Amino acid sequence: MEDLVNWNEKVTAQLKEDGFINICHEALDRKVAGSSRNSTAIRYVPLSWSSERPEVIDISYEKLTNDTFKFANALKKLGMKKGDVLFSLSTRVPELYTVALGTLRLGSVFSPLFPAFGPGPILARMSKGKAKAVFSQASLFRKKVLPILNSLPTLRHIVLIDDDGSLKDVPGAIDFFQLMDEADPSPILEKTEPMDTALLHFTSGTTGEPKGAVHVHQAVVYHKASGQYALDLRENDVFWCTADPGWVTGTSYGIISPLCNGATLLIDSAEFNATRWYEILKHFKVDVWYSAPTAMRMLMKAGEELPKDYDFSHVRFASSVGEPLNPEVIKWVKENLHITLHDNWWQTETGGIIMANDAKMIVKPGSMGKPLPGIEVALIKDFTIDQILFAANNEQGEIAIRKGWPSMFTAYLENPERYSKCFVGDWYLSGDLAQKDQDGYYWFVGRKDDVIKTSGHLIGPFEVENVLMDHPAVLESAVIGIPDPVIGEMIKGYVVLKKAFAQSEEQKLQILAHARKRLGAALAPREIQFINNLPKTRSGKIMRRLLKARELGLPEGDLSTLEEASGS
Ligand code: ATP
Ligand code: MG
Repeated sequence: MEDLVNWNEKVTAQLKEDGFINICHEALDRKVAGSSRNSTAIRYVPLSWSSERPEVIDISYEKLTNDTFKFANALKKLGMKKGDVLFSLSTRVPELYTVALGTLRLGSVFSPLFPAFGPGPILARMSKGKAKAVFSQASLFRKKVLPILNSLPTLRHIVLIDDDGSLKDVPGAIDFFQLMDEADPSPILEKTEPMDTALLHFTSGTTGEPKGAVHVHQAVVYHKASGQYALDLRENDVFWCTADPGWVTGTSYGIISPLCNGATLLIDSAEFNATRWYEILKHFKVDVWYSAPTAMRMLMKAGEELPKDYDFSHVRFASSVGEPLNPEVIKWVKENLHITLHDNWWQTETGGIIMANDAKMIVKPGSMGKPLPGIEVALIKDFTIDQILFAANNEQGEIAIRKGWPSMFTAYLENPERYSKCFVGDWYLSGDLAQKDQDGYYWFVGRKDDVIKTSGHLIGPFEVENVLMDHPAVLESAVIGIPDPVIGEMIKGYVVLKKAFAQSEEQKLQILAHARKRLGAALAPREIQFINNLPKTRSGKIMRRLLKARELGLPEGDLSTLEEASGS
């Protein structure tokens, strides 16, 4: 990738142009001021959609902008101010996007919650974030927020859709549509400063209790440009990001980046279904597709026959984030969908994509690609107060990013010590380990917490999992280290088999032998256990810490993001 971008200059230039930076302004107002205000901002695919019932809801940039004027004015009238936090707890309905952008327009802070959370995780997040308003669907609110309402003393406004009237007596409850009908439609915009808080995102809780990462308005400069560099986003593209806005990907790239780049945001209201996904990709002629390894593995699970009837040749660029993308998955998608998947790496804390395989790069399957232009990444082996030891090529180190890219988080809510621990000198420490090869490509090794120390070797679970997945019977795998008095840690692999294969002692021995042949006796798992589902976060990440806790009979820790029924 080119290396010419100076992000500070980009932010300053943007500031000079307008005197302020506001995410909603960048996402909507520029396009509406231009000639293409009637182009489609959102193409919403309702639950009832099928290729035989193809009705969708199209929302133009102009309509979305006008709706955000109304919503921002309505919030203002209610008394919401700059910096006040609005949480959303909603499935992917069109109104959610008006709420997100309208909140940002007013300079208030938007914090999306994943709608499948229960009351406990919701309470933890809303009280940490000092929620002043919530947007929700009546059914979700009744089940999940009503029981904890008394524990949310800062909450003033409850904006509801789909209420049958039974919640109207709850103090602060307001009907969204009535609010919008009565709202002032005049243009409104808070001229936010670059470092004003805009978004509050909670991490996935893969390694422990989820952390609340604070993000600022200047992040939009990065959201926009990184969409072009890493996702090949162009004006009028049909862009499908399959992540829910409840996670950072679903906001940075599921709302902000595509709109800033003048694309059409395709939003599917339904949960995963392989046939539906193929139908959507084909029917809407998706140009750019952004998804996750878990989703790809679910497509694999649905089999090779299904995609045979589809032509996906219009997909210009496809990428994946959130978890290591196994070479086996890239190969399957290439062979069966004829699409090249491009892995990229980032975190809730980074606010935007940091490393990527871009459209011009040759994909090395298993590599996360290279840092985006102007982003300085280093691998740190060790550090003391006055010295940092960097890893050489092909040596493991912790991924560190030089401070100062515009979408960097500015705090962990209520945890300044944890925040300051993330930095050494000029570098932000990500907690992930990687290696760089001689061509400058980065290869994920594992999270620092998941790395296994065995017989004097430091082994990343990803390397071992890739080999397990390479066995024809294996659909998914997770690898952990179990304390061992002789070798430090013993490698144990959990394996989900493909549908056509039965769990048997012989199958186990075959997989073990395959791993030993490929990895050598020292790095191969000593033991394999079949499992029907791996425990995963609701955002699809394997919770290795939970496998380990269960194995060792230790407390399971924070399970607020655990996907229901996983791990059985
Ligand atoms: P927590 O910090 O609460 O444990 P989390 O780190 O899973 O949760 P996120 O910020 O949502 O929360 O996820 C970022 C992490 O996901 C990265 O630090 C990395 O471990 C993993 N990840 C993201 N993209 C990739 C990728 N392309 N390859 C490998 N790992 C990835
Ligand atoms: Mg993390």
